[in-house]
Amino acid sequence: MSNHVTVCDVGPRDGLQNDATTLSPKVRAELCNRLAQTGLPRIEAVSFVHPTRVPQMAGAEEVIAAIEPHEDVSIAALTLNLRGVERAIAAGVRDVHIAYPVTDTFAQRNQGMTVAQAVQATGAMIEACHTAGLRVSVTLGAAFGCPFEGPVDPGVVIDHVARMAALGSDEIVLADTIGVGVPAQVRRLVPGAVAAAAGRPVGLHLHNTRNTGYANAAVGLEQGVTLFDASIGGLGGCPFAPAATGNIATEDLLYMLDGDGIDTGIDLDALLSVSRWLAGELGHDVPSLLLRAGPFVAVGAGA
Ligand code: ZN
Repeated sequence: MSNHVTVCDVGPRDGLQNDATTLSPKVRAELCNRLAQTGLPRIEAVSFVHPTRVPQMAGAEEVIAAIEPHEDVSIAALTLNLRGVERAIAAGVRDVHIAYPVTDTFAQRNQGMTVAQAVQATGAMIEACHTAGLRVSVTLGAAFGCPFEGPVDPGVVIDHVARMAALGSDEIVLADTIGVGVPAQVRRLVPGAVAAAAGRPVGLHLHNTRNTGYANAAVGLEQGVTLFDASIGGLGGCPFAPAATGNIATEDLLYMLDGDGIDTGIDLDALLSVSRWLAGELGHDVPSLLLRAGPFVAVGAGA
């Protein structure tokens, strides 16, 4: 178990992309600026996809331009094709996230290609990023289960990790895109993934759709994961389960990591302030339980 982990807040992208409220690029940039002041080392700020496909992500360039430069904070962008990589490079993004699902039906529905084609496209995107001097992280979607094909063989996922390591991805993230994973799966999958990654960091992108997200994070930590995606407030949802909640909440994850003595560099109170502000901007409550309960503070004798 590592005593230092990197937390990437994907709320401005994965969270807002699945929220019923569409925020303006100005407010989305303000969210990133506020998150940047909490000590978070990385923020997935935008997705360079076509605005007709994901209207919540329209104006990605505008968001990036309005984010104040922060020496210790990496501003990342999700891209799904070479066009997205070109837009990220043009916008001055230094950290590119690429994602593809590991099952054919999902890949066809999401990206209009087979998994084999997605692997090939990802290779070309990694190369384009590295040529431009950018850092690349590849996320393997549906690594814990596919909404169309059901359970996914851990061996298949581990094979993808090895291929992404061979193609030079700087890190590899396993995503429970639809939030079906359980701790036993994390225990089966992560050690093999860490070995296949050959020294590159392995991360987890967890959705708390069925309330197993934090248990999965705890087991992942014990099995060698050094990177977690989480969203402020636990914002978001899942396009394949309309009633589902979003990613694990950054503040709830941080409460656990702090208690475990893991160093993240993030200030919990600052994070809670951002979460409270965001709920106000959205006009609805966010799923975070820590925001509701507050941090653990003794009320003192006699109270
Ligand atoms: Zn996600």
